[in-house]
Amino acid sequence: MLSDNFHQLKDRIHQAAINHSRAPDAIKLLAVSKQQSITTIRNLLALGQHDFGENYLQEALPKILALNSESITWHFIGHIQANKTALIARHFSWVQSVDRLKIAQRLSAARGQYQLPDLQICLQVNALQSSHKTGISLSELPELIKAVTQLPYIKLRGLMTLPDSGTEEQAFTAVASIFSTLRQQGYAMDVLSMGMSVDLEMAIAAGATMVRVGSALFGARS
Ligand SMILES: *Cc1c(COP(=O)(O)O)cnc(C)c1O
Repeated sequence: MLSDNFHQLKDRIHQAAINHSRAPDAIKLLAVSKQQSITTIRNLLALGQHDFGENYLQEALPKILALNSESITWHFIGHIQANKTALIARHFSWVQSVDRLKIAQRLSAARGQYQLPDLQICLQVNALQSSHKTGISLSELPELIKAVTQLPYIKLRGLMTLPDSGTEEQAFTAVASIFSTLRQQGYAMDVLSMGMSVDLEMAIAAGATMVRVGSALFGARS
């Protein structure tokens, strides 16, 4: 049952926060609704969940359009192709998977063209440089941040990471550490998006402020 899953998940997040001396309301839940129907999204919305994440533009667009009048904040969390940036900028409020300047520039330009409020973005970090994953390396991150914060129609909110299984603890710790360093240097970031269904406790222990959860809410995907 969706409502049981939702309440159990909220309890898990709450308990993990308490166990690691974090304020429970400092950790936001992003419901990852890939492969989920409009009806399921509406049911979760009715339970009080307003932030939803999607990985694929083609899959997300009909849902976003159908739920147009609802109070949903849509986050794009998938790989971004340069030729999709205008549509992503137009239909999402957040993009968490920005990992190169060209994409950030195109998102900013499109957002300006549509005269929409600033796009909220996170930079996707690949801390351990696993070969098949997208994301910027830790060494290239400061330069990208400097460039992205100059762009007019996007607002840098933080960092996102999606580690390979088996490397979560090391990756979460590394990303949390650079997040903290960058904040000390004066970058006003407030979002550290890491942790999913199986590893959200570990991410919260390391300092996550947003967990992205699909299967623990909706059941296993096909
Ligand atoms: C699918 C996905 C999630 C959610 O994963 P679950 O294991 O279903 O909780 C989180 N983040 C990203 C980027 C994803 O693609």
